[in-house]
This record gives sequence, C-alpha cells and structure tokens, in this order.
Amino acid sequence: MSEEQRTYGIIGGGAIGWSVAYQLARTRRDSRESIIVFDAPMRGASSWAGAGMLPPAAQVMSPDPLEMLQQISRAAMPEWSAELKQVSGIDNEFHVCGGVYVARTAGEQASLIGLQQFWQEVGIEGRTVDQNRWARQYPWFATQMPWDTCRLLLEVPDEAQLRNPRHLAALRSACQKMGVETRLLDVDQAALLMLATDEDKHMAIDWGTEERWRCEQFVLAAGSWTSRLLQRWFGELHGSAAVYPIKGEMLLFKSPAPLFTAILNTGTRYIVPRLDGHILVGSTEQEAGYCGEPTAAGQAQLLEFVEQTLPSLLKLELVQHWAGLRPASFDQMPIIGRLGDRPELIVASGHFRSGLQWSIGTALCVAALLRNETPPIDLRVFQPSR
Ligand SMILES: Cc1cc2nc3c(=O)[nH]c(=O)nc-3n(C[C@H](O)[C@H](O)[C@H](O)COP(=O)(O)OP(=O)(O)OC[C@H]3O[C@@H](n4cnc5c(N)ncnc54)[C@H](O)[C@@H]3O)c2cc1C
Repeated sequence: MSEEQRTYGIIGGGAIGWSVAYQLARTRRDSRESIIVFDAPMRGASSWAGAGMLPPAAQVMSPDPLEMLQQISRAAMPEWSAELKQVSGIDNEFHVCGGVYVARTAGEQASLIGLQQFWQEVGIEGRTVDQNRWARQYPWFATQMPWDTCRLLLEVPDEAQLRNPRHLAALRSACQKMGVETRLLDVDQAALLMLATDEDKHMAIDWGTEERWRCEQFVLAAGSWTSRLLQRWFGELHGSAAVYPIKGEMLLFKSPAPLFTAILNTGTRYIVPRLDGHILVGSTEQEAGYCGEPTAAGQAQLLEFVEQTLPSLLKLELVQHWAGLRPASFDQMPIIGRLGDRPELIVASGHFRSGLQWSIGTALCVAALLRNETPPIDLRVFQPSR
C-alpha cells in the first residue's frame, strides 16, 4: 500500500453505512481512494425494517444542526434517487405523497397544535382541513374516520416516502458498480471483528480467520450494535457514543389496488400506502435488548390501532409482520464525529426514528471528515463526547 493510498473501512451496511460509501464513491477523487463496507446479517437491522417516511424539511435556512441535517438530506433525496436508479437500475420509489395528521385525543391535539406552530415558523406548509375538504379530498379516509371523531386534521403536502428496502438495494448495487468492496461477515465473524493498530496503520481483523484489512480510517455505522463493538474494542462505553436498541414492529397489508396515497399519521403511529397497493402499519416502541423478533403483543397493538383508525384494512391480506431495532442515543440525537482518543474512527450512529431521513446529510458530513474537509453542518452537538 503506497503512502498516498487512502482506504476507508465502513463497518455496518445500513442506510448510514451505505450512504457514506455511496457519497465517497460518487465524489471519489482518484484511484488511490478505496472503500470497503463490512456488513453482517444481524437480526433486526433497522434500515430494512423502517417505513421510509420522509417528513418535510424547513424552508427557511435554519441554524439548528438537526434541522440542517434534515434539510440537506431531503433536498438531495430526489437527485440521489434519480442517480441511484440510473446507476443501479433499481427504483427506490421516492415520491412526494403528502401526509395527513389526525388528532383524536386532547393530547394528540395539543401536540399537533405545537407542531403546526413550529411548521409555520420554519415555512413548512401544514394546512388545517375542514369537514368539507375532508370529505372531498380524502373520501376514503373520511368514510373510515368520521369527522366527529377527529379533533384536528392537518394536511402536509410536502411529506414524501421511499421504499427503504429498495433504497438499500439501490445503494448497495450502485456502490458495488462504482468499485466499493464489500466484505460480508456472518454473525459469528461479526462478533469477532476487531480493530487494531500496527506500525501506525489501522486494521480490521477477523479474529476467527485472522484475515486483516488495512484502512487509514474507519467509520462505525453499526446502528444498534455500535456500543457493543466499542465496548468490545476499547472496553468502555465512550460517553455519549452509547447507543441502545429500541424495537419497532410493523405490519404489511396488501390491497389489490391502491386505496389512498397520503401517509396517515396519528400520535406516534402511521399508515403508509405504497404505490402498488401494499400498506405499512407502524410502529411500536419497546426496549427489548437485541431481540429483533416480532411478537404477538406487538401485532395485537398494531391491529388495535388499525381497528380504531381504518378498520376496513383488517379485511385485507396481512402479508408480513416484522421488527427492527432503532439505534437510540441517550438524548435521541445522532452521533456523528471522531472518537476523541481514537481519531482514526468516526462514529455515525444513533439516528433512532430518523435514519433514512437523515442519511444523506450524515453521509456528506462523514465523507468531509474522512477527507479532512469542513462538513456542511457544525457537528459539535453530534460529537460522541458531547
Ligand atoms: C419499524 C421502524 C420504522 C422506521 N421508520 C422510519 C422512517 O419512516 N423514516 C426514517 O427516517 N427512519 C425510520 N426508522 C429508523 C431508521 O430505520 C434507522 O434510524 C436507520 O435505519 C438506522 O440506520 P443505521 O445504518 O444506523 O442502522 P442499521 O440499519 O441497523 O444498520 C447497521 C448495520 O450494521 C450491521 N452490523 C452490526 N454489527 C456489525 C459488525 N460487527 N460487523 C459488520 N456489520 C455489523 C448490521 O447488520 C446492520 O446491517 C424506522 C425504524 C424502525 C425499526
């Protein structure tokens, strides 16, 4: 390996890891930059399990780093989606479908009023829907949810979605076509993956086979498994780089034809119609350690939500039920930055419920850090040591 060779090792092939790899590949300076993604099929990996909802971003320039992460990501998603389709041949089905926010309890109403005020301040359109409009614009919803059961209805025209498993497949395929190397580890190998430093070179080592990969820098994007790896490598949790899994369960129904187009949001639950008639219902929140299995209790909670919200969905075929582990940090803010005493390691994790939404902004920031450039966002609030 020549002095100028720069190899970036990305540990974790979820929305964050693959987006970082893709950003590096699409902006690669020359052939001396190489990229390796290490991934493992951990049960409950989050990006495949998510709903792919992309809420609107602030229209006014915001000094808030979290808002900026959302703005940068959302603004770039149409271009990334088109580019990915061209390179990989896979359509992630990104489209602006609009969203309807429904409050049926006093608590939901209060939080929706707060949300609407915030949207107004940052230029996001969130229109109140009256009874006539509800019946005219959303006839199918209106038959299911009569006007008198709703305390407040808002429509958010700029809400979008993508089909996250396809987005992941497109990222992976495009990366591979653009020369990104992939190392697929099985679950046992993943447990034995270590980092070490030898003569100023940093290495990932498969402790089982003793295979070694030399990289100048690593990105740890292992979602809910981030803290486990840090603990194994360095024997401590590294302050706020602590990430813990929050399980979310999801149901998938199939209608022969699409019934509605807008995402329905109520409280922390939602119903997301795909373009081909599939309908996602999510999601639960539970601390269940690293158990990525769906449960009868989770299914019952979601079916109860459907019963109260759009009961006729229960007549459709229930085609799948799964769970994913959302990577949560202590303050539910993402963790993006170098690990203080291990500057060869950048952590990109803790995106909790918004990792698909914030993936592009995170990728742009991490790629800039790897190349010693100034990231587009002030990352101090996201530092692992905050
Ligand atoms: C039910 C549900 C609904 C959601 N809905 C949305 C939504 O609508 N919009 C949104 O923006 N977000 C949503 N999210 C959140 C979003 O999915 C996550 O924030 C995001 O996927 C996190 O991405 P990640 O790459 O950090 O983690 P992951 O996708 O979990 O990826 C981490 C990867 O690291 C791998 N790995 C672990 N250990 C090792 C190892 N030792 N070696 C190599 N690889 C390893 C794992 O196998 C995995 O592939 C949802 C999540 C869930 C569970």
